[in-house]
Amino acid sequence: MANCLFCKIASGEIPAKIVYQDDHVVAFEDINPQAPTHILVVPKRHIATLNDLTHDDDQLLGELTRRAAAIARDRGIESGGYRTVFNTNRDAGQTVFHIHLHLLGGRSMQWPPG
Ligand code: 5GP
Ligand code: ZN
Repeated sequence: MANCLFCKIASGEIPAKIVYQDDHVVAFEDINPQAPTHILVVPKRHIATLNDLTHDDDQLLGELTRRAAAIARDRGIESGGYRTVFNTNRDAGQTVFHIHLHLLGGRSMQWPPG
């Protein structure tokens, strides 16, 4: 989609520190990391929010979550633990309207989140 930051990162038009990509998924370092590991796992196809998902996206969502787990394993944080978050719309603080799974780890975190 034109003027979507994460579509532009997915296509290579805007650079990012890419840690993984395949035909459907790209994962890159967050520009403003909130933990020692902070990676965004993103579908290459534009989907604005979780509210826009359909049954056709079920496979893709499985790929995103399994990729986050694989990256956590690569980073050695799988047994210590990590957090995976989709922010949706205003109250959750979503700022980029192309779905992205935050993978955060490498430090202990609080619950409930702020
Ligand atoms: P949200 O607030 O929508 O859940 O998360 C958006 C995330 O994208 C934020 O954590 C923010 O730091 C990250 N971000 C915003 N702009 C860029 C960018 O240009 N490059 C990268 N790598 N991350 C970005
Ligand atoms: Zn997009």
